[in-house]
Amino acid sequence: MILQASTSEVYGDPAVHPQTEAYWGNVNAIGPRSCYDEGKRCAETLFFDYRRQHNLAIKVARIFNTYGPRMHLNDGRVVSNFIVQVLKGEPITIYGDGRQTRSFCYVDDLIEGFIRLMATGPDVAGPINLGNPREFTIRQLAELVVEMTGSRSKLVEKPLPADDRMQRKPDITLAKKELGWEPTAPLEEGLRRTVEYFEGLLSRKSAEAAQ
Ligand code: UDP
Repeated sequence: MILQASTSEVYGDPAVHPQTEAYWGNVNAIGPRSCYDEGKRCAETLFFDYRRQHNLAIKVARIFNTYGPRMHLNDGRVVSNFIVQVLKGEPITIYGDGRQTRSFCYVDDLIEGFIRLMATGPDVAGPINLGNPREFTIRQLAELVVEMTGSRSKLVEKPLPADDRMQRKPDITLAKKELGWEPTAPLEEGLRRTVEYFEGLLSRKSAEAAQ
């Protein structure tokens, strides 16, 4: 059996909200993010061709924004960026006006979804959305991180990257039905554990640098 870790990027800049698996997406074929979006879409196509032609046992999960401990310090994703900036006392970089939305899934919830997906019978191949349906603006996320850490970091606006999506939120009706799954970690709790992780990482790094 083989799992494809696909992505919500297959929906592109979605014209349908929230995104269900039945939505085919709104993807730019030639933009700067297209190699990622189209690469994942093509991988899904190949998975389903192999299933049809060779009866390969496949499971395709469409992963929405996920965060948690063990993210890379320089991953560049919004949650790790904001936390690391706050812990270093640097300004928080909001791309655009911060009104774009995302829904953040804590990593343990995602892993539980994978385990349940892999335990399903051969008739369940997906694609199946795995993500947290609670939607936040990027500005709300920044304010929450500031509030939780008691930081004095200022919010600064930076240019919005090309093809940045305005809205993203999974419809997880299918995952609930097929896997009996839904995320359980509230954002505040997941962020608290992630802040703890980065605090530990940064203090280890500064201890190493001092040696
Ligand atoms: N973002 C931001 N500041 C950052 C990093 C990201 O405002 O330092 C924004 C980014 O423009 C996007 C959202 O946060 O609108 C989520 O970005 P991320 O790269 O984490 O995930 P993706 O765009 O793949 O959903």
